[in-house]
Amino acid sequence: MPCKNCKTRPVIKLNSTNIKLCRSCFLKYFEKKVLGTIRKYDMIGNSKKINILDDEFFNINFNILNQLSEQRRGKFKVFKTKLRKGKTATSDNIDTISSLILLSEFKNRLRKDLLPVYKNTIRPLYFMHLEEIELYAKLKKLRIKKRKLPTRQKKVMNFINDMEKQYSGTKNNIVKSYIELINNLIDETEEERYKKH
Ligand SMILES: [Zn+2]
Repeated sequence: MPCKNCKTRPVIKLNSTNIKLCRSCFLKYFEKKVLGTIRKYDMIGNSKKINILDDEFFNINFNILNQLSEQRRGKFKVFKTKLRKGKTATSDNIDTISSLILLSEFKNRLRKDLLPVYKNTIRPLYFMHLEEIELYAKLKKLRIKKRKLPTRQKKVMNFINDMEKQYSGTKNNIVKSYIELINNLIDETEEERYKKH
């Protein structure tokens, strides 16, 4: 089956759909989705400075955010720094996030810090699958720094990968219901606070 958009030879079959894309359509899809996440969650806001955490997919975040900075005529600048003042973009993605969400649920301790934006942490790759990120890096010749995950998390990730094969859309469902749940909890606490006054 050829690329869904232009009928040339595909490089990937997208997760959770049966859509196949060629090299150039895939690169467009990837960047559009990441930029869409940045916009939807207002990750830049009024910040003049965005730090990129020097982790696994530093080069990808750096490239895409620099593209955006150019589009916005340099309204913000991108830096390579460790966690300091200002917003920091991390390499978290749907695979790492969904496994951390499940791990926290197993421990019966729901973490509130795994949202696309939490305090000064922003996660542009939040909805991207590891497989997509690795392919993007390969096609763009961007270097990835391999990171060793804790054994427990790795096990949960494998479990979710098996689920995803059986029920495509599993990862998406995990992160989307998590976001909804946390937002509901936040609304409730705000209501409580409001009642007290
Ligand atoms: Zn195409």
